[in-house]
Amino acid sequence: MPTDIFFDNNSTTPVDDRVLAAMLPIFRESFGNPSSSHAMGALAAQHIERARTQVAALCNAEPDQVVFCGSATEAINTVIASFDQGTIITSVVEHAATLESVRQAANRGARVVTLPVDQKGALDLQQLESALREGVALVTLLWANNETGVIFPIADIAKLCSTYSSPLHVDAVQAAGKLEIDFSDVPIDYLSLSSHKIFGPKGIAALIARSPRTLRPLIVGGGQENGRRGGTENVPAIVGFGVAADLAKRERVSRMKRVKSLRDRLEAHLLSRSKGVWINGASSPRLDNTSNMGFPGIDADAFVGMLSARGLFASAGSACHAHSIEPSHVIQAMTGARKLASQSVRFSLSHLNTDADVECAIATIADAHQAF
Ligand code: PLP
Repeated sequence: MPTDIFFDNNSTTPVDDRVLAAMLPIFRESFGNPSSSHAMGALAAQHIERARTQVAALCNAEPDQVVFCGSATEAINTVIASFDQGTIITSVVEHAATLESVRQAANRGARVVTLPVDQKGALDLQQLESALREGVALVTLLWANNETGVIFPIADIAKLCSTYSSPLHVDAVQAAGKLEIDFSDVPIDYLSLSSHKIFGPKGIAALIARSPRTLRPLIVGGGQENGRRGGTENVPAIVGFGVAADLAKRERVSRMKRVKSLRDRLEAHLLSRSKGVWINGASSPRLDNTSNMGFPGIDADAFVGMLSARGLFASAGSACHAHSIEPSHVIQAMTGARKLASQSVRFSLSHLNTDADVECAIATIADAHQAF
């Protein structure tokens, strides 16, 4: 029985010790309400502005373009609800936060164009361009897929959208900390990020907007976040997010180098040890930490349960859908086959995993596959 191995880092990540150390004094000492006019309030507000600068720097954005909110789901909902008249273009492999949001926008009268992907998980940019020609209120697409790690060519997509003057929102939740993001250079209008995917606390996220005034706030109240998101700010979480963003910026290259070597070893050994195993999205540009593997003959939900009983934590789709019996919509969209989706398991590693984790995981997965 191995000690626990966490290969589910696309669902969430542990809080970095340095992040936690920065948060604790905010709970204990600098606990003022940032809207208060006294010195304790001013100190809390200063903490927020420092974190805003750190989160902006992760994406090479300006601090006043950052709106803190409670989750990337909220950020995504805010953008889509701001553009729910006219046509919204999205893709079939988006996260539930987008798919559900556009479904609701459609109920309110929006026309939704859902682009397909091919077997590699790639979009057809010509298809995107013909949809753009008809005039579009918003394009909303993932940067990197949470289930397969497949990366969309966001710079090309952004160029196309700006040619047709269509606002572009990018769900960069999985890209942040793993890919270079340059908001000042790439013509993206809105970007959503989530702290808990980059070793920060849960319950805090950011919507980065080129012109925050173009957003219609989902939550109104005391005018916080410059009127873009009401409610007393979660200062400890914002501070933690700031530090996590700063670390992600400074350590991204070394983290990704390490995690890629672990992920590649995992894949190489499983491909040679377990018969018939395949990798979804293998021939596309992919995140360095993600491996979505198919195992003939398994049921992914049951297989993830077997691995969990052996101390290895993986996923059979996205965590938001972990209680759903429907196999991954992403793998179904890529393969056109429900069966292949129900045989696909996601392993998402982090720089905190060790060589020993990978050795142990290879043996555990191969044994479980044989035993299935
Ligand atoms: N978008 C993607 C690609 C994700 O992976 C997730 C989380 O799994 C989200 C959005 C939602 O993020 P949050 O948990 O902050 O609501």
